[in-house]
Amino acid sequence: MTTRPLIEVKNISLRYEHNVVLEDITLTIDEREIVSIVGPNGSGKSTLLKTIMGLKEPFTGTVTVNGMNPNEARKKGMFGYLSQQSSYDSQFPVRAWDVVAMSRYTRTGLFEKLLRQDRAVIETSLDRVGMLEHRNQHFGSLSGGQKQRVLIARALALEPKILLLDEPATGLDAVAQDSFYELLQKLRTESGLTILMVSHDIGAVSEIVDKLACINRKIHFHGKPSECQPHEMIAKVFGSNIHVVRHDKNCPTCRGER
Ligand code: ADP
Ligand code: MG
Repeated sequence: MTTRPLIEVKNISLRYEHNVVLEDITLTIDEREIVSIVGPNGSGKSTLLKTIMGLKEPFTGTVTVNGMNPNEARKKGMFGYLSQQSSYDSQFPVRAWDVVAMSRYTRTGLFEKLLRQDRAVIETSLDRVGMLEHRNQHFGSLSGGQKQRVLIARALALEPKILLLDEPATGLDAVAQDSFYELLQKLRTESGLTILMVSHDIGAVSEIVDKLACINRKIHFHGKPSECQPHEMIAKVFGSNIHVVRHDKNCPTCRGER
């Protein structure tokens, strides 16, 4: 199978007021790759995702998505985005189905009826994340992992080519994280999606991604996890005061057993 660059970020720098938060970042993401951007808090990870989607403008450098500029790509519906700490007020009475339906309303208009085709896409999206049988369940009553799946279905209902996920596994227990990462691999295989995901758990994502992009304002490493010299890189990116939590699905404690 031949791959080609889908996202090309070239020498971008970006600042907020006088603070440079991204400096000379270059990276390439191929079609159907799963890539994780890792780095400590405040290192510019969320800003980089938003820049790729055209929601932030770099002051130098370029981003190209499938040959287009990011704004064009966004308007063409290339992106499915899950923002950091996406959540719904659990008291707000919506079903899983309604949460997914919201992304179709952005196409039809809020007071228009959903067409049969929209309903079919909503059902397929719920099915792809294994949540179809929970479609009528109150969103607030779902587990953390199930909520994340529904939010992924909401992104899929836009029929994107690229999923951009900002810390999607934060707050999930080890078992839910593993099953969430399995879902991402399945989506890539079955639907040919390209997935770019922000994480600060380098240990967990290293096992499932094709490439890592380690950033702390600058990019310190971009390549296969097996080529990454963890200790050296971790010290560079995270500073020396960090313990990288690496969970193990065979470990009873990680599985939440006592
Ligand atoms: P990360 O996602 O890695 O935690 P962010 O991309 O959110 O980092 O933020 C990078 C830096 O930019 C941080 O220092 C943050 O405080 C700053 N920042 C983020 N958004 C804004 C904003 N809208 N205005 C000013 N500064 C911001
Ligand atoms: Mg962030």
